[in-house]
Amino acid sequence: MSPFTHFFTGWVFANCFDLGRKDRALVTLACVVPDVDGLGIIPEIFTRNSAHPLLWFSLYHHSLHNLAFALVIAAIAFALAAQKWKTGLLALLSFHIHLFEDVLGSRGPEGYQWPIPYLAPFSSSLQLVWRGQWGLNAWPNIVITIVLLLITLWLAWRRGFSPLEMVSAKADSGLVAALRRRYPSNLKNLEG
Ligand SMILES: [Zn+2]
Repeated sequence: MSPFTHFFTGWVFANCFDLGRKDRALVTLACVVPDVDGLGIIPEIFTRNSAHPLLWFSLYHHSLHNLAFALVIAAIAFALAAQKWKTGLLALLSFHIHLFEDVLGSRGPEGYQWPIPYLAPFSSSLQLVWRGQWGLNAWPNIVITIVLLLITLWLAWRRGFSPLEMVSAKADSGLVAALRRRYPSNLKNLEG
């Protein structure tokens, strides 16, 4: 699935637990971070028609989709978090939700399945694929993304914070205020 979908998955997942702002961000980002190995798409697109194309995306995409990198990310989350064990373990889980989503629906437009080399770089024996995998741009991904986005807006309305808190407290409270102005009903009952 796209990094966008993974991000909102991580956010909704993080909001299932009682975490502070920073820990929430760590758990959310753990659901996106495996895709840093896809950044090679940028040089690949720009050099596609050159004499020496850089095939970094083709070569390295999914090279960080593995248990070893998941443990590194969990350790970083543990180190940075306020609630260390809880956030570290949730980051580990969040990372695996990303892998699960990719197995479900990340088939490339050319039909390639992007198997997940779960034990890389130590072993290539375990490659996670699912025959029913749908395409990256298939409708289930669009539906899932829309549902996650709606849940995110509902959470913002209900709890008073959104993913914008990661970049700007002002933008975050602006969004919450706008949502609550637009949908004021029963808010007092819910908070009581
Ligand atoms: Zn991925």
